[in-house]
Amino acid sequence: MNKRIYLSPPHLTGKEKEFINEALDSNWVAPAGPAIGHFESEIAKYNKIENALVVSSGTAAIHLALHVLGVSRGDEVICSTFTFSGSCYPILYQSATPVFVDSERKSWNMDPVLLEEAITDRLRHGSKPKAIIVVDLFGMPAQLNPMMEIARRYEIPVIEDAAEALGSKYYNKLAGTLGDIGIFSFNGNKIITTSGGGALVSQTKKWIDKARFLSSQSRSPVPYYQHEELGYNYQLSNISASIGLGQMLVLNERIQQRRAIFDFYKDHLPRHHFSFQPELEESVSNRWLTTVLIENSSFSPEELRVALEAKNIETRPLWKPMHLQPVFKNAPAYVNGVSESFFDKGLCLPSGSSLQSVDLDYITNSILEFISKR
Ligand SMILES: *Cc1c(COP(=O)(O)O)cnc(C)c1O
Repeated sequence: MNKRIYLSPPHLTGKEKEFINEALDSNWVAPAGPAIGHFESEIAKYNKIENALVVSSGTAAIHLALHVLGVSRGDEVICSTFTFSGSCYPILYQSATPVFVDSERKSWNMDPVLLEEAITDRLRHGSKPKAIIVVDLFGMPAQLNPMMEIARRYEIPVIEDAAEALGSKYYNKLAGTLGDIGIFSFNGNKIITTSGGGALVSQTKKWIDKARFLSSQSRSPVPYYQHEELGYNYQLSNISASIGLGQMLVLNERIQQRRAIFDFYKDHLPRHHFSFQPELEESVSNRWLTTVLIENSSFSPEELRVALEAKNIETRPLWKPMHLQPVFKNAPAYVNGVSESFFDKGLCLPSGSSLQSVDLDYITNSILEFISKR
C-alpha cells in the first residue's frame, strides 16, 4: 500500500524549528512572548493593513469579531450557508440567531442579490441584522464590492471569513481586508498553519484593541485582577506564533504550489466529467482546495470518493450547507438550491502544497482508471 495521501496536511519548511528553539531557549513558553507581536506584524504587513491580533483559532477570531460588533442575545447575524460550521457557531455562542444566505454559481460564495433580499425580508420581520459574515470559500474571494455597497446602504458591518483565503486577492486587495473585520485560520489543514490558531485584522484600531482585551480575560489595567466585563482565554501561545513565523516565510510559495496543483488537475482530468470552481476575472484565489463538480456523469462523487479511499487517497465532499445541519435547523435561511446542488455534486481533491508530481500522477491516474472501468 502506498503512503496515505491526505487532503491538506501541514507543510513545514524546517525554519519553524529555529523559531521554536528561540522561544524555548528564552523560556517564553506562554500565551505571551516576543513571537506573538512579531507574528502579528507579519500578518499586518502581508495584508497591508494597520491592525492585527492573533488568537487561538479562526473560530475564536469570529467570536471576538461578533462580540466587538455588539452582537448579543436575540440579535440576528447573516452568514453564508455554504461554509464550515466554524463560521457560524460563534453566532450561537452570543445567543444570537444565524440567518443563512445561499451562494451564486459565479463564485460559489454568498449571492449579493439574495443578500439584499434577506436583509429587506428581515427588516419586514422587524429585525435588522446586526452583522454579516461573508465567507471566501476554498480560497475564492466572494464578490465583496457589491456586498459592501449593500451593507453600507443598510449600515450593517461585515466580517469577512477569509479562514481559507489567506493571500487571495479581489481587485488586487487581499482577502480578509475587504470587509470591516477580517479573520484568518491557521488550523493544521489551512494554507499555512500554527498547528491551531487564527487572526483578526481591521482598519479600525479600536475593534482590534477591544478584541485583544477580551481575548486575555478582560483584565482591567490595575495591579490586581479586576474584571469589569466577561472575557475569554483566546490567546495564541508564543510557541504557536513561532511556527507561524516560519510559515509566513513561504506563504507566497505555498500559494503558487496550490495554484499549480489546481492547474495540474484541470489539465489532466476530462472536462466532460469534471468542472472546477471558477475564478472571477477580478480575483486571484490561493486555491486552498481544488474542488470539482461531477455532473451528467456515469458515476457519483461518492463512488469516486470510495474508489480513491481504497487507493489510500483522501478526498471529501464539499461543505454541507449550514441550513441543512440539524444544529441550525431553526435558523431562517434564504436558499436558491445552489449550495445544495454543489454539495450533491462536489468533491475536494488532495491539495496539500507538499504533494509531489508522483503523487499527482498517482491521484489522476487512479481517477482515470476508475472512470475507464465505468
Ligand atoms: C477553518 C475554518 C474556520 C475555523 O477556523 P479554526 O481555526 O478551525 O477555528 C472558519 N471558517 C472557515 C470557512 C474555515 O474553513
